Amino acid sequence: MIAVACRVCEGPPAMPWSEIEGQERAVRLVRRALAKGELHHAYLVVGPEGVGKELLSRLVAQAANCESPETERPCGACVACTQIARGVFPDVFWVRPQSELVAKGLVNKGDLETAPSREIRVDEVRQLARRLAFALVRGRRKVAIVSPAETLNERAQNALLKTLEEPPPQTTFLLVTSAPDQLLATVRSRCARLPLGPLADEVVERKLLKQGVPPQEAKARAVASLGSLAKALTFTAEALGERNALRDQVRAALREPDERLALDLAEEHAERDPALAICDLWAAELHDELVAYGDGAHEGTQPLEALRALDHLKVVREGLLQNGNPRLQLERLLLGLRELRGEGAPRG
Ligand SMILES: [Zn+2]
Repeated sequence: MIAVACRVCEGPPAMPWSEIEGQERAVRLVRRALAKGELHHAYLVVGPEGVGKELLSRLVAQAANCESPETERPCGACVACTQIARGVFPDVFWVRPQSELVAKGLVNKGDLETAPSREIRVDEVRQLARRLAFALVRGRRKVAIVSPAETLNERAQNALLKTLEEPPPQTTFLLVTSAPDQLLATVRSRCARLPLGPLADEVVERKLLKQGVPPQEAKARAVASLGSLAKALTFTAEALGERNALRDQVRAALREPDERLALDLAEEHAERDPALAICDLWAAELHDELVAYGDGAHEGTQPLEALRALDHLKVVREGLLQNGNPRLQLERLLLGLRELRGEGAPRG
């Protein structure tokens, strides 16, 4: 089973630096390294879902191999840039779990002997290492992009670690992850960090407007997406409506004197993804409160309460990601938020 996949281009082939927005820090870091010819042999491209981690990785691969003059790299138009965008450049390798290859239509489910694996396995890492051992075919630098890196299972991570400890020449690894804690500390310590943050609402809104989303909807989707363009793109009018209904349910569960609504809500959403959706939704709500407070537009909002609520939410979210019982985590979330509300005025 070939797991080192070409990546089918999802956008136009021309993708110069200006195409990535709102990630100035990470872009500055790699551009400086590229300009000095000092690209590190391994990076952890780390940040929330849907903020441009894979786009940045592709741009790095293009810039490192672009055939245009140095100041114009990546040009997005030369043979190397277009081949990398299409996923057919011989010195750039994408490694993904089978489940993602199937989801992206890069592999036929019927060609697999077993159900598509959600993990990147040791054989796939060994195969990558064998490919990287060859000399450059036509570029200046071999680039291996592993995404999402947290799907590497433990054996695969240990195999990768060996390669990272003795990196092949002229090679850069980009480990793309939104959950760096799920990688072995030994793997993380071998990588320089390229941190990407959530996108500003305006950036997401602008991208949606460019895609022809009506202004009011673009704004609502941008706010609801918590800085993730990928999420904003998947929100439909129907999904927004459902989301608003859920938000009203959470509001009611926090407001009612009785705990019953909160417990019912936790029971109704007792699976990981729906529970995470409630966390994200309420984080967006709290962000709105904080922004409104900053604007002086929101009487009676207690910023300290919102900040404490965000802290509490973060703890519950981590619990959910570490496979905590979703129902118990949601109960913990809602009852905790109720308690914070009940405390009323902020303490100094
Ligand atoms: Zn180019």
